[in-house]
Amino acid sequence: MFETLTQAPGDKILALMGEYAADQRSAKIDLGVGVYKDEKGVTPVMTSVRKAEERILSNEKTKTYLGIAGNKGYGNAVLDLVLADSVDRARVRIAQAPGGTGSLWVLMQLINRARPGANVHVSDPTWANHNPIAINSGLKVVTYPYFDPETRGVKFEQMLDALDQLSADDVVLLHGCCHNPTGANLTDAQWDQVAESLARTGALPFIDLAYLGFGDGIEADAYGTRKILSSVPEALIAFSGSKNFGLYRERVGAAILVARNAEQADVTNSQLLNIIRGAYSQPPDHGAEIIRTILEDAALRAEWEAELSAMRNRMISLRKKLADAIRERSNSSDFDFVADHRGMFSLLGLSTDAVEHLKAANGVYMTGDSRINVAGIPEDRVGDLAEAFLAATR
Ligand code: PMP
Repeated sequence: MFETLTQAPGDKILALMGEYAADQRSAKIDLGVGVYKDEKGVTPVMTSVRKAEERILSNEKTKTYLGIAGNKGYGNAVLDLVLADSVDRARVRIAQAPGGTGSLWVLMQLINRARPGANVHVSDPTWANHNPIAINSGLKVVTYPYFDPETRGVKFEQMLDALDQLSADDVVLLHGCCHNPTGANLTDAQWDQVAESLARTGALPFIDLAYLGFGDGIEADAYGTRKILSSVPEALIAFSGSKNFGLYRERVGAAILVARNAEQADVTNSQLLNIIRGAYSQPPDHGAEIIRTILEDAALRAEWEAELSAMRNRMISLRKKLADAIRERSNSSDFDFVADHRGMFSLLGLSTDAVEHLKAANGVYMTGDSRINVAGIPEDRVGDLAEAFLAATR
C-alpha cells in the first residue's frame, strides 16, 4: 500500500525550530516560532487559565459526550466576545472546533458544499496554512494585493480595487486583526470601505480571527469583524483561543456562521454539523471549558483581560524599543514600520540572503520570508538586534 507514496514536503517552521535547537551559540535569538513568549522567553500558562482549570478539576462530574457543536456555554461566551451587538443572533450559529485551524477547515468544507471549487481570495501574503486548507477542501486560491514591500504597510487602494471586482460567487479571506505574517493592518476607515465593497459585490467575507486582543485591545481588534457583520447578509468567522488564552495545545477555536435569516442559518448549520460529524465527530472540551469558565466569571475575566493586556503591551513596547534602537543607529525612519505594526509579527521585507546572513552571522532566526515574532525579542538584546538588522540590510 504505502509504497505508492513519496515524501511530503516538511513544515518550514518545524525545520527552523530544529535548526535553532541544534545551534550551539549561547547568543542565538529565536524570532521564528509563532507563539507568545514572556520576558523569560517562556510561553506561560496564564494565571486565569490555571485557576479555571483548578475549578474545572474539582467541579467536573462527567466526561460524557457534549455534542457535535461542542460546549454551548463556550459558544455563547465567544459570540458575546467577538460579535457584541453587531448582528442579530437569530442569524448566527457557532460550533466549537479544534483551534483556529480546525475552524478554518470545517468552514472551508462548508464553502465547498455551497459552491464546489469556489475561489477563495487571500491576501498576498497570508498565513502559510490558508492555502493548503483551502486546496484540501476542494477550493481554489487566488490572491489580492495586500503588503507593500516599499512602505511595509497595506497597498490599500489596490486591495480595494481587487475586492471591488468580485462577485457573489467569491469568498474573501480577511485577517480580522494582527495580520500574519506581515503585522500590517487596516485602519477603521479602511475596514469601513472593505465592508461597503463586500456589501456591494455580495462576495462572502470569511474572517480569520486568531489574535483578538493581541493588537490594540479586544474592542479595537474586533472593529473590522463587527463592521463587516453589521454590513453584509452572510459571513463566516474562524475564531482561535490559542493565542489570547495561551491555550495552543488544547486546540480550542470556533466556527461561526452568519446567514441571511434564521431559517437559512439552520439549514447551513445542519451542513456544518454534518461535516464535523463525518470528520472528528465532536471537539475536545477542556480548552473550551476553560474559556467558558473565565468569560462567565467576572473576577476571572478581569484577571484574563489584565494578563492579555500585559502580553499586548509588552509586544507594543518591544516594537517601539526596536524601532527606536534602529533609528538611533541609522538616523533613518526606515524601520519605523515595526512600531506601527500590530500583533505578534512583522514582515521586515529582507531578502532571502539577508535572512540567511542573520542566521549564520548573528544566530538570529526568523522565517524565510523575513517574518519576526516580536514577542521573541530579548529586552536586553534590542541593541544587538538593531545592529544585526542594519548590517544585514546594508
Ligand atoms: N490563523 C492564523 C492567521 C494564525 O496565525 C493561526 C496560528 N498560527 C491560526 C489561524 C490557527 O491557530 P490554531 O489552530 O493554533 O488555533
